[in-house]
Amino acid sequence: MDNCLFCKIIKGDIPSSKVYEDDYCYAFRDIAPQAPVHVLVVPKKHIENIGALTEEDVEIVGKIQIAIGKIAKQEGILESGFRVISNCGKDAAQTVFHLHYHVLGGKEMAEKMV
Ligand code: AMP
Repeated sequence: MDNCLFCKIIKGDIPSSKVYEDDYCYAFRDIAPQAPVHVLVVPKKHIENIGALTEEDVEIVGKIQIAIGKIAKQEGILESGFRVISNCGKDAAQTVFHLHYHVLGGKEMAEKMV
């Protein structure tokens, strides 16, 4: 999508600190990290958020889940634990409308919402 920040990052038009890439997704470090490890995992296909997923996207979503595990291992947080968050829409304060999963780890997260 022309005017999407994460589409531009995936294409390499905007620089990013790449962590992982496969046919389905691209992962890079968040520019404003909220934890020692804070990686964003985004599908290469432009999808607004979880609410915009369709049956067509089942393979992408499955592959991303597997990629998140690989990234956690690569980042050394698989054993210590990590949190995965995807903000959807206004009440969740989503700011970039290209589906993304925040992968956070490297510290004990005391605050629990759920
Ligand atoms: P959200 O608020 O869930 O939509 O998350 C968007 C995330 O993108 C925020 O955590 C931002 O810090 C991050 N972000 C925005 N611009 C960039 C960028 N150019 N490179 C890396 N992360 C970014």
